[in-house]
Amino acid sequence: MPMAGKALYPHLLEPLDLGFTTLRNRCIMGSMHTRIELLDNSIDREAAYYAERAKGEVGLIVTGGYAPNPYGRMDEQSAVFNDAAQIADQKRITDAVHAEGGKICMQILHAGRYAKIPETVGASDLPTPINPVTPRALSNDEIEATIEDFAHTASLAQQAGYDGVEIMGSEGYLITQFCASRTNNRDDEWGGSFENRTRFALDIMRRIRSRVGTDFIVIFRLSALDLVEDGFNRDETLRFAREIEATGVDIISTGIGWHEARIPTIAHVVPRGAWRSFVGQIKAAVSVPVAASNRINTPEIAESVIADGDADLVALARPMLADAYFMAKARQGRADEINSCIACNQACLDPIFGKSHASCLVNPAACREIEFEMKPVQTAKRIAVIGAGPGGLSFAVTAAERGHKITLYEADDAIGGQLRLARNVPGKEEFNETLRYYTRRLEVLGVNVRLGHKADADGLAAEAPAGSYDEIIIATGVHPRALDLDGADHSMVMSYADVLTGRAVPGRRVAIIGAGGIGFDVAEYLTAGRSAGEGSTQEFLAEWGVDMTHAGPGGLAEKPSVPRKSTHDVTLLQRKPSRMGRSLGLTTGWVNRTVLPQRGVKMIAGVDYHRIDDSGLHISVNGEDKLIEADSIVVCAGQEPSRGLHDALAVRGIKAHLIGGAHEAAELDAQRAIEQATRLALDI
Ligand code: NAP
Ligand code: SF4
Repeated sequence: MPMAGKALYPHLLEPLDLGFTTLRNRCIMGSMHTRIELLDNSIDREAAYYAERAKGEVGLIVTGGYAPNPYGRMDEQSAVFNDAAQIADQKRITDAVHAEGGKICMQILHAGRYAKIPETVGASDLPTPINPVTPRALSNDEIEATIEDFAHTASLAQQAGYDGVEIMGSEGYLITQFCASRTNNRDDEWGGSFENRTRFALDIMRRIRSRVGTDFIVIFRLSALDLVEDGFNRDETLRFAREIEATGVDIISTGIGWHEARIPTIAHVVPRGAWRSFVGQIKAAVSVPVAASNRINTPEIAESVIADGDADLVALARPMLADAYFMAKARQGRADEINSCIACNQACLDPIFGKSHASCLVNPAACREIEFEMKPVQTAKRIAVIGAGPGGLSFAVTAAERGHKITLYEADDAIGGQLRLARNVPGKEEFNETLRYYTRRLEVLGVNVRLGHKADADGLAAEAPAGSYDEIIIATGVHPRALDLDGADHSMVMSYADVLTGRAVPGRRVAIIGAGGIGFDVAEYLTAGRSAGEGSTQEFLAEWGVDMTHAGPGGLAEKPSVPRKSTHDVTLLQRKPSRMGRSLGLTTGWVNRTVLPQRGVKMIAGVDYHRIDDSGLHISVNGEDKLIEADSIVVCAGQEPSRGLHDALAVRGIKAHLIGGAHEAAELDAQRAIEQATRLALDI
């Protein structure tokens, strides 16, 4: 019998009394842009998406941002909520959440100069490095009108049944742009002094409170740390927090870093709970409840942030995509069944910036609750799944959840496939959580897992189709592509799989052939100066130039950042002439592209490979011959599908479903494998 959650997470599961209403626990579902609004039946989809999280027992939901007027939209397709005619649709969302016993606040966000629309507006006409459009400075009348627009949207939200609103005042959006001298060079009553720069935020909050009355949750999302030059220092941040408190907010929820900051704040390289001490300073300065966010992805870390007094609540955004039942499982003492967010951004943030909509790598049903509905089966099938990599695992778990009888064969002595390699890369330790999740779910669901068993065609043929199995799923994955090069069999040549498992130990000078995701991972593995699972928040902050005391503007350290010491001299090579690392994630790739050169990694594009011999790797670039002197050459040249079993079954006339890398290795990633497998398991 699992230990009841209340004994394990007493602070996290403690209700929060706001006076006029009580949250059932200390977990907020943090606001996140999903762009569900781009899809057909978007209101039904949003209602299902939020209702699922309410059913999963989160204490309070905050929606993705709604603009208070058209200028505040993130882009031309983003949602504006400024018309009473929209109330009926919004009420369908709030009704769905309330029917599941949840509470929901609407976030109101004005993007300011981050808006990707033809005419952007800002506190001043100062451009941002992350938007090519230069903003127009708002006039005095427009500022007054914008304050009124915020209050109007809050009032509409109240009429639509929302339990409250959150005002987005962090991450570098319009309100933050007014606050910081970095983005505000006005010389009128809205610029110059601290009082003038913060007036916009304070006026909005006062106007909203007077419009919605007292029995309505008002949250201000405050930047605990700007991480940009000329951002707030600690004293300004704390003073601002106290002034925001005085406007009558119920909760201060904190954000970390402007979007244009060149310091990762939520990516996988950020240690769990890395920002909690900055939030703790705000909590110590005010009396209203304060929420912490960013890289809090387990009930344990959430509990410790609250128990240690750094915050009163936690706001989890991506972890709520990864598992809608995060809080229910925590309460039931089933935290080992939580599908944890691995901070990859691959299926949530990256698609949003690529103009698609969010989902989740580990939970492809996120934001697609309607189409991924879990229907129990009428007649259970006996299904053999061959291969326990991401595809095989997700098929096995989803099909077993529906009621099918699954036998999962894995030739290795452990489940995981490529996930077991990825977790050894420093910064990608979160893959251990994915393995923990699958291990536990297989156990709970009673899947027959046969490790160290290489299923062969003869054995399966004896059991299918008339025998034991009704269906066979081939998820046999991939194998590293061999190098077709003179000297490829030299003793210094090794595959990435050997390096990442520790079977091969490269010498000091390393040439990496292939600069896709895995080439970059190997470069990180060799130069991080730490093993996966090691490293501290202090080291991370030092490496990225963050001042723990937050004494100076933006919390940036006066001294330059401190690169970790690399034990290897690495050269990363690709044949394409294009920029290195283009295939990396949109919102995470820049992190690798920033740190690797700092650690001395040389990157060479447009390479022709000629041969390998005792002196190293012979190449030419732009027709000029070069020698990369190396002790070891690591091949990261992609993968080929492992389809031998599928083909052998086909010869015997036995049909099998081919999924994941075995289906198509090109550009294979865990996201595609898991989504494909889950869709099949929901259909079979
Ligand atoms: P990949 O992304 O396909 O990269 C392999 C690279 O090797 C190619 O870009 C290619 O670049 C080079 N190559 C291909 N054939 C070659 C040959 N015969 N000889 C020499 N070079 C050759 O594959 P991967 O790096 O193994 O990654 C596999 C999948 O996992 C990808 O979908 C990737 O997105 C995903 N992944 C992503 C990340 C991440 O985003 N951080 C990390 C790990 C894995 P040139 O032809 O230009 O040399
Ligand atoms: Fe977390 Fe990755 Fe899922 Fe985004 S896609 S919610 S970062 S696991």
